[in-house]
Amino acid sequence: MRPAPVISIVGAGPAGFYVAEALLQALPDCQLHLFERAAAPHGLVRYGVAPDHQKLKQVAAVFEGIAGHARLRLHAGVEVGRDLGLDELRAGSHAVVLTHGAALGRSLGIAGEALPQVFSSAAFVGWYNGHADHARLAPDLAVDSAAIVGNGNVALDVCRLLVRAYDDLAVSDIPQPMLQAFRQRRIRAVHLLGRGAPGGVKFTFKEFRQLADLPNVRVRLPQAAAFTDAMWEQADGPDARRTLQWLRAQHDKPQAPGDAADTRLTVNLWFHATPAAFVGTDRLQAVRVRMGMGTGVGAEREIPCGLAVTCVGFASRAIAGAPGGDAAGRMRHRAGQVLDEAGGAVPDLFVAGWAKRGPSGIIGTNRACGDETTATLVAALPALLAQAAPRTTDFGALLQSRGIAVFGHAGWRLLDAHEQGRGAALGKPREKLLSLDDALRTLATLAPA
Ligand SMILES: Cc1cc2nc3c(=O)[nH]c(=O)nc-3n(C[C@H](O)[C@H](O)[C@H](O)COP(=O)(O)OP(=O)(O)OC[C@H]3O[C@@H](n4cnc5c(N)ncnc54)[C@H](O)[C@@H]3O)c2cc1C
Repeated sequence: MRPAPVISIVGAGPAGFYVAEALLQALPDCQLHLFERAAAPHGLVRYGVAPDHQKLKQVAAVFEGIAGHARLRLHAGVEVGRDLGLDELRAGSHAVVLTHGAALGRSLGIAGEALPQVFSSAAFVGWYNGHADHARLAPDLAVDSAAIVGNGNVALDVCRLLVRAYDDLAVSDIPQPMLQAFRQRRIRAVHLLGRGAPGGVKFTFKEFRQLADLPNVRVRLPQAAAFTDAMWEQADGPDARRTLQWLRAQHDKPQAPGDAADTRLTVNLWFHATPAAFVGTDRLQAVRVRMGMGTGVGAEREIPCGLAVTCVGFASRAIAGAPGGDAAGRMRHRAGQVLDEAGGAVPDLFVAGWAKRGPSGIIGTNRACGDETTATLVAALPALLAQAAPRTTDFGALLQSRGIAVFGHAGWRLLDAHEQGRGAALGKPREKLLSLDDALRTLATLAPA
């Protein structure tokens, strides 16, 4: 009789859960260990998806169903590669699946990026979502204008959060200290800087309308006079086409009397606008942009701004002991089987989600991605099971012997209920705990040892 497969998964985001679900289904006798470095599971559903998109966060209920499975053990608060070596995990498992996402903000590599008030979207989004890595970011939102670099949905999320009415934000799950910073906003204008043509925008029309339809916001095209017919008409896809049509219809509208007294906030969409430098002495004052259209093509212009968020993608954080990834930080793989730098298969190592594909696709994309990886793993399993049995699978005892406090699904359920209770008292879905220490301290009061 073959031994029961023991499989470890690194990262309790959507990819980790979808892989777990597929493995539990495909292998009725497997034992799964799911490791998560944060004080809460659900990955970017909790720490990336915008706080005013609570409906989307409801997918967490699906993940909770998987986390509660009798053959899955969650180990929250454990960073693989630091608290537990990947080699130790491999020695204790027949196979390991890496689903550690892509949490690092990519940089533009231009001057001034390290100035105070210039943030990557990974940091800024992590901050307003209460991620422990970024909870101390303390951006000053009491500035007149902000620049956002990028033309994707993350850029629009950040823009919407910066301009959205406080009352809307107060009923989201933005933690109270961050909400305080939003309350102090003075922003009157946001500049969205896209490198490409108007028809090359990467965001969806739905996300665009969520911004453009805000009653306190007007979208403007400062370069509209220089738009050619081709620029109005050439679009890279249906979302970009619909966005262009909407913008053109607005642009063609005659000015209504009273427009001059319009007090709405302005979102300026710039195109063919490549940031060349962030400018300032002790903090950001402007972004210098190389313009690629209209009068003065190739000229640089400075756009004043007291805050900048660069939304230009994400890269995976390397896990010590794992083969290096490609230039974009993705693991090399063949249908989810990890490959080493020379292109050879690492037999017991697999990958899924953003660590595999890079930062693209929606939450649901990770299900098909996880299914592919699971199929590859299941096919490889007979050979993996034929090898020596895992040395130890008592990861809990190993971590305890190192003094590393971890908690499982029952602990997370208590914390989840606690956060929701704190939120209800404030009229919000939840009030998040902002660090692992906070979570452990709270847990000690909720479930005394
Ligand atoms: C700002 C933003 C907004 C988004 N909005 C939407 C949206 O509205 N709708 C939508 O469908 N999709 C949205 N997405 C995309 C969606 O969140 C991703 O597709 C999805 O989260 C990727 O899943 P993942 O599991 O690969 O990565 P993640 O969600 O990042 O999960 C990875 C997990 O691994 C953990 N981890 C990392 N390293 C270790 C380690 N060494 N040890 C243990 N654990 C580790 C992390 O803490 C994390 O919990 C958004 C993404 C971002 C960034």
